[in-house]
Amino acid sequence: MSVLDDLNRLREDARRAFERVPGTRELEQARVRYLGRSGELRAAMARLKELAREEKAQAGRLANTVKGELTEAYETAQARLSADEAPAHARPMPDPTLPGRAQPRGTRHPLTQVIERVVAIFERLGFDVADGPEIEDDFHNFTALNIPEHHPARDDFDTFFVRGGGILRSQTSTVQIHVMQNRPPPLRVVAPGRVYRPDAVDATHFYAFHQIEGLAVDTDITFADLKGTLSLWAREMFGEETGTRFRPSFFPFTEPSAEMDVSCYFCHGRGCRVCKQSGWIELLGCGMVDPNVFEAVGYDAEQYTGFAFGMGIERIAMQSMGINDIRLFFENDLRFLGQF
Ligand SMILES: [Zn+2]
Repeated sequence: MSVLDDLNRLREDARRAFERVPGTRELEQARVRYLGRSGELRAAMARLKELAREEKAQAGRLANTVKGELTEAYETAQARLSADEAPAHARPMPDPTLPGRAQPRGTRHPLTQVIERVVAIFERLGFDVADGPEIEDDFHNFTALNIPEHHPARDDFDTFFVRGGGILRSQTSTVQIHVMQNRPPPLRVVAPGRVYRPDAVDATHFYAFHQIEGLAVDTDITFADLKGTLSLWAREMFGEETGTRFRPSFFPFTEPSAEMDVSCYFCHGRGCRVCKQSGWIELLGCGMVDPNVFEAVGYDAEQYTGFAFGMGIERIAMQSMGINDIRLFFENDLRFLGQF
């Protein structure tokens, strides 16, 4: 191979090497290899002596050009590394014997955990999980639930109305209506979901929160089925010794209606701060489905009876997890969420 060929190959190889060196150590290695005292350029130049005069002059000019180019390429690489990488290389070598960095493992949101526990118990009792839209129409949010035209719940101040029609559902009871419109009895469903009310935000109120709705319909369902089912659920949820009591109440879509309390699962009825010394915790609203609701969805109110219930998830989570501000659930602060 001629000296000219050698010089041209060297020119290419060295230029590419200087362009690609990743660090100062590799740059020095390349410098020694190509431009060093016993490097490839010196070796090629040493062979110039062997050449005839004419060739020697030509190869000598090329050798000088290559030397100039490579010196420049070396300096360019040096400048690039000192600008971009010197700080990184100034740092000490990483110690490969140190233990690795653990990836923090995620947790389920505390509200999701409560919803899953509640739903899992009802699933064992034979309930299906149902879902429905968060933007509702007047029929599903009010009319079918036996909430008449003049009812104050229809007031602007108690419901979010969506521009262009529609309502952000103010309770998960709307899902009852969807389920009954789409399935014939008998049925047993629970429907967890988010609901919206224009409440002023404070430690116990937020404009969005979660409920779980339940519905059972069959030919001979009585209030005893309601009490039995919910009492069994409460014992599974809060412990075998949990007691329940039912106080008369009113909801437009159930008749008769009741509030169910459970014996305080912190003090077991002795009285504490959580139960405000009463020994009982208010937990959910329930009742026998009003015949008007069955009529609204086309069920035969003479043939079928049923019970329904609804509970707020945030309140259960706050009480059972010792959380004192509802806003914490919605701030996505990992310092808070990571505790559960
Ligand atoms: Zn208590």
